[in-house]
Amino acid sequence: MRGSSMPDIGAKNELVVLDAIRSAPEGSSQSEVVRRSGLSRQAVSLITRRLMERGLVETDGTLSAGRGKPRTVLRVVPSSLLAAGVHLDPTGITLVIVDLGANVVAEKALGPPGSDPDAGVARIAAGLEELLATMYEDGWRTPGGQSAREALLGIGVAAPGGLDWRRGVLVDPPWMPDWWDTPLVEMLSRATGRTALLDKDTNAALAAEIWAGERLSEQTLLYVYVSVGVGSAVSSAGRVQRGSTTQAGEIGHLPTGLDGPVCGCGRRACLSTFTDVHAMLHRIDAAKSAADGSAGNSDWREAAGAAAEIDVDELSSASLEADGERLDALLAAATSGDRLAARIAQEHGTALGEALRTLIGIHDPHRVIIGGPYWRALEPFAMPQVLERALQGSGGRRGVTISSSAFGDDVGAIGAATLYLGRELSPTVR
Ligand SMILES: [Zn+2]
Repeated sequence: MRGSSMPDIGAKNELVVLDAIRSAPEGSSQSEVVRRSGLSRQAVSLITRRLMERGLVETDGTLSAGRGKPRTVLRVVPSSLLAAGVHLDPTGITLVIVDLGANVVAEKALGPPGSDPDAGVARIAAGLEELLATMYEDGWRTPGGQSAREALLGIGVAAPGGLDWRRGVLVDPPWMPDWWDTPLVEMLSRATGRTALLDKDTNAALAAEIWAGERLSEQTLLYVYVSVGVGSAVSSAGRVQRGSTTQAGEIGHLPTGLDGPVCGCGRRACLSTFTDVHAMLHRIDAAKSAADGSAGNSDWREAAGAAAEIDVDELSSASLEADGERLDALLAAATSGDRLAARIAQEHGTALGEALRTLIGIHDPHRVIIGGPYWRALEPFAMPQVLERALQGSGGRRGVTISSSAFGDDVGAIGAATLYLGRELSPTVR
């Protein structure tokens, strides 16, 4: 967004300048900030001075650009502000506190959400309080001398859909029936005395990329989040596209066109029949039966086989956690050379690649980023298939980039915090 030099919208212009400085992590010259913000040199100079007085921006060395004069580098001070991120997932709650550079400065894992939302929110509030207290005791301060408690802007929460991000209400997230229709933002704000926001985990993960990446806010991005299920998120010009009911990006039932089983939705070979952790474990079990157990007898196969006995309707966070452990075992086996395990992981990539081919045609992104808690382990097997399938057709001709996220398992919580930073500090995300 371009700024205006009108003095009465100074606060907005401050955000425009801060955003222009922040979008180049290695630092920007004042001329670059002038160009990127669309403000006058005089306005940028005035606002920059104000941001420096508040400790949000610093000058750091000089850039020499070819034959021109060396230019002073402007850069945000990452430790000048903080936001908290909460990832509420059926398998567990993760808390982080991140700085303005999306760096994690404190984190804590709580157990699964449990069956009582009041008790769950109280645990989250107590956990955040503990992180802030520890940071105080450890001597964490902003360069201006503020404590973490004083520098904390607010709390972002990421959760699986369905949810209503406008009202801050969990609607019907899977495997958490006790949390359905919970006004989470209101409850958490009351428990912590701080403002909060709620969004889907997929949108949060994408927000982390936009926040931390160099000028990704200028591109159309497609993010694929690989967890116990697969979801997607799309952003254009720095804005996440949520759809009318925060349901955009539910790609589990996208047809892959592959030879696959009939899905619970009635169609054949949906993406989720290859990519849901539970479905992958079923496929292992089926393959094992077909081979009548003669293909070896490693521990992971016994563990994975038990998955077939779980009734999908009775899935709980405990069984999901166990599924996660079985998937870890499967991938460890694939890594150490087990061909069946490797094939199941490769099929994940083939199906995801087919789905991406369709999605690239729909969204026409500059870039596709794949991440989420299970992606790092799957990537060595799945990524070659993803690239082969997804880049057939127009995506390949246009040279769309497909890469893995640099964030690890905590991306949901980090992303939730960056969503909050974005709401407070980005002139485009409102
Ligand atoms: Zn389906």
